[in-house]
Amino acid sequence: MEKIFDLNRLNVKAFAREHLSLQGLQGLSQFARLIDLEVKTGPDSHNTATESPSVNWAVQGELVSVSGSEDQIWLHLKAELHLPMQCQRCMGAVTVKVSSDQSFRFVPDEATAEAEDDASEEDLLVLTPELNVWELIEDELIMSAPLVPKHEVCPTLVPMSAVDAAFEDALDARPNPFAALAQLKKKPN
Ligand SMILES: [Zn+2]
Repeated sequence: MEKIFDLNRLNVKAFAREHLSLQGLQGLSQFARLIDLEVKTGPDSHNTATESPSVNWAVQGELVSVSGSEDQIWLHLKAELHLPMQCQRCMGAVTVKVSSDQSFRFVPDEATAEAEDDASEEDLLVLTPELNVWELIEDELIMSAPLVPKHEVCPTLVPMSAVDAAFEDALDARPNPFAALAQLKKKPN
């Protein structure tokens, strides 16, 4: 029997208790803040849905037993996408691989989270009956995205040098002003 889980409001406790996992491919339309990071190269860049980047994601719940204490609720999250961003050196589009691999442990309240945060490698979240996993995935990817995206080596600007060459050709083709003056002087009145 398959249970339906809504990632907009996931019951993490139940998800973890049954050690469930989910994965999929999700289009960027789900992630408005990631769309803001995406470079818009032109009006045709979103012509077809298949060309639009999508997020490859997976979540796994885990219940970890601790002797003498309540079981810990964990969620492991992996997400990855290839996001076209704007290169901050040449201002062209650069596709950046953004990926996150993070584990979360859920604690009963904010005070516990603050008290245990420094000693924990994992991220601590306060347990809520309904967790928005999409937001969590989006938060993680935004934090993993480069602040200053750049090409390793910026592509040569071919259209620019073509313009330059044409401009220089035009200069060469222009008649020498002194030669033109000499021609004028030779003309009889
Ligand atoms: Zn560049």
